[in-house]
Formats: sequence, C-alpha cells, structure tokens
Amino acid sequence: MEMPDIRRRQTRPVKVGGVWIGGGRPVTVQSMTNTRTADADATVAQIEALAAAGADLVRVAVPTRRDTAALKRIIARSPVPVIADVHFHFDRALEAIDAGAAKIRLNPGNLSDRQQVWKVIAAAAAAGVAIRVGVNEGSVVERADPERRRRDLSRPLHELMIEKLAEYLEIFAAANFEDLVLSAKSHDAFTTVAVNRLMAKRWNFPLHLGVTHAGTPETGAVRSAAALGALLCDGIGDTIRISYAGDPVHEVRAAVDLLCSLRLRERKGIDLIACPTCGRLQTDITPIVEQVRRDLADVTAPVTVAIMGCVVNGPGEADGADVAVCAGKDKAILYRRGEKVRAVAAEEIARAVVDEVRKLVRETE
Ligand code: SF4
Repeated sequence: MEMPDIRRRQTRPVKVGGVWIGGGRPVTVQSMTNTRTADADATVAQIEALAAAGADLVRVAVPTRRDTAALKRIIARSPVPVIADVHFHFDRALEAIDAGAAKIRLNPGNLSDRQQVWKVIAAAAAAGVAIRVGVNEGSVVERADPERRRRDLSRPLHELMIEKLAEYLEIFAAANFEDLVLSAKSHDAFTTVAVNRLMAKRWNFPLHLGVTHAGTPETGAVRSAAALGALLCDGIGDTIRISYAGDPVHEVRAAVDLLCSLRLRERKGIDLIACPTCGRLQTDITPIVEQVRRDLADVTAPVTVAIMGCVVNGPGEADGADVAVCAGKDKAILYRRGEKVRAVAAEEIARAVVDEVRKLVRETE
C-alpha cells in the first residue's frame, strides 16, 4: 500500500542567497565548517566537499575580525550560500553582512546590549540578509538570581525555551523584521521534539531543526534521527543540521539520508538494502555489501540494490529492487527487477552486482 506523502507545515518563505527556506519548499540541509574561517582556501575546500555531499547551505564561524575579513573571498568562491555564525560580538555580524553573508545566526541572549541587536537587525534589513534566531537549552535557566533559578529548574525546559524565544522575537517584531528562521536546540531528543512542536504552533517562521552536542555518530546518530525524524514526519522543519564531531561531510550524508528515507528528497545514487545477517547465513555478505557500496559510490542514478543472505527474504526483496542478489551456499542468484539473471559463484557476487548495476544505468541513460 502506498503511504501518503508527508504534509509539510506552511510557513513564511525566507530567502537565503539563492535558496529558499520554508514556504513549502523542499527541506534544506545545512552544515558547518570546522576549518579556521580565516584560512579561506581550507574553508572553501570544505564547503565544496559539503556541497558535493548534498549541503544546500553552509555556516562558518566568525569569532575574530580575521574570519570576517576572509569571508568575502570565501563567499565569492562558495558553490552554496554562506551563513555567518555570530556569538558575543555584534561587530562580527555587521562585518559578515558587509562581506555578503546570506544569513546570520544570532542568539540575542549572547549580546548584552539591546542597541547592538538593533544595529544588526537594521544592517540585515538594509542588505536583505536573513537572520536565524535561536535559543539553546544552556542559556534559558537563570544563573544570577537564585530564587528565579530555583523556579526555572522546576519547570520543563521546552517551556522556558519558548518563553526566551518569544522575548527575543519581540525585538524583531518591534523592528518589523520578518526574514527569520527560528531554532531551539537541546541535546535531548524529547525536548527537541517538544519545543519545536510548540514553536510550530505558535509562529509561522521556518524552523531550523537540530540536536545540539550530539557528539560522535556513535552517541548522536539515533538521538538526531529520532528527534528530527519525528518532527519531519509531522511536517515540521524547513532546514536541518545533523551535527557530529569530526568531518562534517558525514553529518551532511546522514541528513541527506534522513530526508531520502522520509521521501522528502529524491535519492540520488544507490539505495542499498542489505540483509542484517543471522544464523541462516551461508555466505559472509558483509564484505560484499561494503565492496558494492564502495565500487558504486560514483553512481548518481537512483538504483535500488538488495544483497540478501538466504532464500527467506531474498526473493521478496529482489522483487522490489532494481538489482538483487540472494546468496546460498557457495553461490548466489542474481536478479534484475525480480527476474532471475543467472547464478554466480560466491567469490563473484560483488563484481556481478556492480556489473549488473552499471549495465542497467547504461541502458536507462
Ligand atoms: Fe537471516 Fe536470511 Fe534474513 Fe539474512 S536474509 S537475516 S540470512 S533470514
């Protein structure tokens, strides 16, 4: 039975360079470089790698004047719009807007002086630059006033985050500035879902989804997929970032995979279905799966490949796959779109699958 597509929440559309966020446009993927932004060559190289992996937008940190000084050169060479990530120094936001940043990420809570926020809003409005306004769970509980701190700690975090965001948004409403993307980040999947559901009910600005401090893929993959997947299934979320420590290309691949899994983005390349293995397995298929994945990494046509370890589920998966292989003892049966092609020896399985996929791609080009 065909599942109905996810119904996206309608929001105000916000233009970020040549990319739209919200307004029913496809959910965009963004990531953040971890090079020193002042090193323009290294930063551009990483932006190019992120864009090639599927990022629609890339954010760069601009903690120093040297970083914003490099921004113009980076933006001129970037294949995707560049967002400047600003904390504490409103001067960096003004310099980034001047350099041509397509969007500024700003947590007004990090700027002590309201006048500074006004200045950034005025500059962004004049340049047609969007602003992402965010709260992080770490900044919503009162630190200075012990009485208020006790009260805050007794309340659900997502409610505090909404209150803080509402407070920030008053500043933007007073300035009549509406090119906003909102975010509320927590390390906790449950809080992330709860706060974004409340935001979606209350405001019609597009939402940036992400789980913060997710750590490595080992600690953060399930948390991020749980939170973002639940929200996206509800039609909530207009731009996403899965953030992991390490090479950010991995986070872009994970975010793209999440969107493809929910049919929010068309899959390009190989969709690999592999048997999880069990006691019925008669041929070790794990290295075969790995080799097929590696050897077909350059394929951009959407092709479903199933590699199954026995006859229990193999023929069924073969029916739904473009190319499939069902392994038995010392040999396997190769299928194309449910039809048997031939039997292949165990040591030939990976090569046979790769050849059959390439043949199929050639024939359908
Ligand atoms: Fe086990 Fe066969 Fe299923 Fe693989 S396809 S998990 S070997 S039953």
